[in-house]
Amino acid sequence: MKKLFLIVSVVILGVLSLTGCSKGDFDDLIVYTITASLDEATRTVSAEMSVDYYNDTQSELTEICFHLYGNAYREGGKSPISQTDISSAYPDGLSYGSMTVCDVTADGAKAEFNVDENDVLTVKIPALMPTRRTIIKMKFELVLAEIRHRLGYYSGKYNLGNWYPVVCAYRDGAWVKHPYYSNGDPFDSVVANYNIKFTYPSSLTAASTGGEGQNGTLDVSVKGVRDFAIVIGDFNKKSVIEGDTTITWYSEGSDDYTKVAKDALSTYNKMFGEYPYPTLAVVKTAFLNGGMEYPGLVYVSDALNDEMITEVVAHEIAHQWWYGVVGNDQVNHAWMDEGLTEYSTTLFYEKNPSYGVEKEARIADSLTTYILYCELYKDSGKSLTVMDKCVGDYPTNLEYTYMTYVKGQIMFDSIRSLIGDDAFFNGLKTYYKENMYKVATKADMIGAFEKHTDYRLTSYVECWVDGSALMFAVK
Ligand SMILES: [Zn+2]
Repeated sequence: MKKLFLIVSVVILGVLSLTGCSKGDFDDLIVYTITASLDEATRTVSAEMSVDYYNDTQSELTEICFHLYGNAYREGGKSPISQTDISSAYPDGLSYGSMTVCDVTADGAKAEFNVDENDVLTVKIPALMPTRRTIIKMKFELVLAEIRHRLGYYSGKYNLGNWYPVVCAYRDGAWVKHPYYSNGDPFDSVVANYNIKFTYPSSLTAASTGGEGQNGTLDVSVKGVRDFAIVIGDFNKKSVIEGDTTITWYSEGSDDYTKVAKDALSTYNKMFGEYPYPTLAVVKTAFLNGGMEYPGLVYVSDALNDEMITEVVAHEIAHQWWYGVVGNDQVNHAWMDEGLTEYSTTLFYEKNPSYGVEKEARIADSLTTYILYCELYKDSGKSLTVMDKCVGDYPTNLEYTYMTYVKGQIMFDSIRSLIGDDAFFNGLKTYYKENMYKVATKADMIGAFEKHTDYRLTSYVECWVDGSALMFAVK
């Protein structure tokens, strides 16, 4: 996600309030097959889903867990909207949604299931050994809240991010059952294959992770993606081709940001490694703040000015590499996601000087705001500078933003200064190539840089992320 923030507002207002497949091998993955339809009148998606689950854990499983993110929008739910975002998320007043499941089966037999207070669905299954498969089927119904958020309806646009029951990650011998926190992008999903058939009003346009719908039906199959998102609306569109990828800009207006998207894709293709998917949808839609990334599809808020749209497009497209193809634990190590993506956005400007934004100015801005943040809150305790923290443990979205985007960007620039441009950029290429379609760890990232430098970086990086060193000199 791209958060917009101004340190000025802080001062004035005082707001503080694995495992995985190798490249091209998509056989041993979960396969989602979903047939769904959207009813405009009730803003309801009715669906049948079959999940062909591959047990790539080291454990014998007797249950499989799913996030029902859509249920977090219910009345009384653990809302993904922070108090400070309520007015921008619900401009027309509070609205609620829900997600319910029924008719759950495991390998053809009726299965026991329950949904806990964190909107995690647990389905009991016959014992499943590692490397074996089982098929879970269920029906689900999703009612969309009227909200400018990842999942919801607002002003003619349907945002369908995290719209189906998503299999939880399984790590260290247990299912990872984080609730839908309001801070950050609290998702922890594995790459999977998708077969989607989704019907919607034929007068509208549907953009998705797997390409575009035709005449009211989105009928696509896509392999090796970390999520599957759809946005539906009365959009105009403009397409350009970059390399092997068709980029399409969707907007209700006549604006056109295909050049930015093309420049971003081209820059990152050269700098990190090739984007592996045939399509990329950039959709200007109803979103409360900045933008949001999904594989092959990004949201850009319809509330942004021209300058911010350019930055958000560059930022969200960088997420195709960091989050999308190379996954990470966005809940506990969000700096690996947002810090590297924010720095990649800075690299976009550095490599494309015609946009008139200097790399040095962006780093200087980050340093200035970070120093001010430390000054303002230095008496609040050391934990205020900890980057490695569960997003749900940050007391405010502001602290999360400073520890992931701002301090993260400064840290990556510091690593670059320390090891030099050749080692840094070769390290990023190695990080991408060696971790495609996986969930990368901090050690994977450090190891990629260390392959190109004699510096041992573990302690250096740890000092940044554990908050034990407030600031390092940056060139
Ligand atoms: Zn982001």
